Amino acid sequence: MVIRLHNSLSRSLEELRPLRPGKVTMYHCGPTVYSSPHIGNFRSFLFADVLRRFVEDQGFEVTQVMNVTDVGHLTLDDIEGGEDKMEAASRKTGLTAWDIAKKYETEFHDCQKALHVRLPHHMPRATDFIHEMGEIIDDLLHKGVAYERNGNVYFEVAKFPGYGKLSGKVLDELEAGARVAVNEEKKDPRDFALWKVDNKHQMQWDAPWHGGARGFPGWHIECSAMSQHYLGEQIDIHTGGEDNMFPHHECEIAQSEAHTGKRFVSIWMHARHLLVDGTKMSKSLGNFFTVGDILARGYSGLELRYALIRVQYRQTLNFTLKGLDEARAAIGRVNGARQRLVRIRDGVEPPGSDGIDVAVAQANDVFTAAMSDDLNVSEALAAVFEFTGACNRTHPSVAGAKAGLSAFARFEDVLGCFGPEPVADASSAAPAELLALLAQRTAAKKAKDWALADTLRDRIAAAGWKIVDTATGPRLEKA
Ligand SMILES: [Zn+2]
Repeated sequence: MVIRLHNSLSRSLEELRPLRPGKVTMYHCGPTVYSSPHIGNFRSFLFADVLRRFVEDQGFEVTQVMNVTDVGHLTLDDIEGGEDKMEAASRKTGLTAWDIAKKYETEFHDCQKALHVRLPHHMPRATDFIHEMGEIIDDLLHKGVAYERNGNVYFEVAKFPGYGKLSGKVLDELEAGARVAVNEEKKDPRDFALWKVDNKHQMQWDAPWHGGARGFPGWHIECSAMSQHYLGEQIDIHTGGEDNMFPHHECEIAQSEAHTGKRFVSIWMHARHLLVDGTKMSKSLGNFFTVGDILARGYSGLELRYALIRVQYRQTLNFTLKGLDEARAAIGRVNGARQRLVRIRDGVEPPGSDGIDVAVAQANDVFTAAMSDDLNVSEALAAVFEFTGACNRTHPSVAGAKAGLSAFARFEDVLGCFGPEPVADASSAAPAELLALLAQRTAAKKAKDWALADTLRDRIAAAGWKIVDTATGPRLEKA
C-alpha cells in the first residue's frame, strides 16, 4: 500500500517515494542532553519510532539516525543570545559540561529502553563531529555564502533565496524577529552563526578549517554534518518537533543545500507540541513531567508509550494522568484477548471451531490503511480494539487462535505499546486428560445429557480442578 505522509515543506500529503527503491533514510533531531528528558520530548521521539516501525512493516529497509546535541544548543533559540545549555547546566550543578552531557545521554538511552523504542541505527554525538562541521563551514566560506567577523562565522541568508520556505515566515517577520537581538557584526539580522569564537567555554576546539579561530559550533550545523555523514547528501525523511521548524530546520536546509546544491530532504515531518492538562507543560504550573516522574508513579513504559502515541502526531494530544489509567485498561483489554488465544493455542483451554480469518484480514486492512494515511494511530488503535472484541466474541480453533495471535503480533510490532505475547498462565495449565473431559462435558451439555455432564464435572473436581463458565466458553481453574 502507498504510504502518504504530510510534508511540512509542501504543506500537503505526499507519497513516500524513497530516493533508492526499497530503502528509506530518516534523520531525527535528537535530545539536547543537559536535563532529564520530559514526556513532551518523547511525544516527538515516539512518533519517529512508530514511523520507522510502520515503514519497516511495509517492507522498506530503514536507516535511522538520531543525533545527540551535547554542544552548541544555546538557551535562546536565537543563536546570538543565550548561553550554551550544557555550560549553563554545568554552572548550576558544579559538574563539568562533559559530565552533564554523559549523565543525561545515559538517562536518555534508559528512557528509550523503558519506552520500548527500537534504537536508531546511529546516535552520533555532536562533539564527535566537529571536524565534519568544519568541512561544511569551510566550503560555505569558500562559496561566499558564509562570512567571518572577529572569528565568528555567519551564514549569509541573503545568498540563499530559499530561506523561509519551510516555516513560511516572510522576510519582514524574519527581520522583525531577528531584531530582538541586534548584533552589529552581522550583515543582516537574519544571518545565523555557524561558529562562535570563544575561549571561556569548557567545550571549545581549534577551528577545524584553515585560518579559523578557537571556539564552538552553532547548533544547526551539527545536523547538516551528521546527516550527510551517515545518510549522504539527500535524505528521504527528516523529523522533529514543531518548535524545530524555525529556526533550526530552516537553517539546516540553508546550510545543506548551499553546500551540496541539491535538495536536502524529500519529506519534512513535525510532531505537534504535547499539552498536559490542557495547557503547555511548564515547571511553574506544576504540570511538568519527566519520563522518570511518570514511571515513579507506578505506570509502566508501555502505558506511557500508549498515552503518548495514541493520537496522530499532527493532532493536539492532551496528556493527563487519567489518560494513563485509560492506557492501562486498553492494554489490559488487548492482552486479555491475546492471553485467551495463547491458552487455546497451547491447549490450556479447549479450542472451539471458529476460524477468524475474516476478522484477521479485515483488522489488518483497516490498520494498514490508517497507518498509511499519515500515521493515523488513533484509527489504527480503533482497528485493534475492534479486532479484540471480535476475538472475544468467537471461540476460535487452534488455527484461528494462531492467526489471531499473529495479527496481534503485527500490531505490536508497529505500535510497540502492548508488549510481547502473554504467556498462558501456568496455574491454569490443566492436564490434557482433564481438558479432554471438559470437552466431553461440553458435548454432553450440548446433547442435553445432564447426567453424563455431571459425572464428568465430578471427575474433574476429584482431580482438584473446577469448571468456570465464561462468555467465551468453559475454562478450567485449580480448585
Ligand atoms: Zn537538528
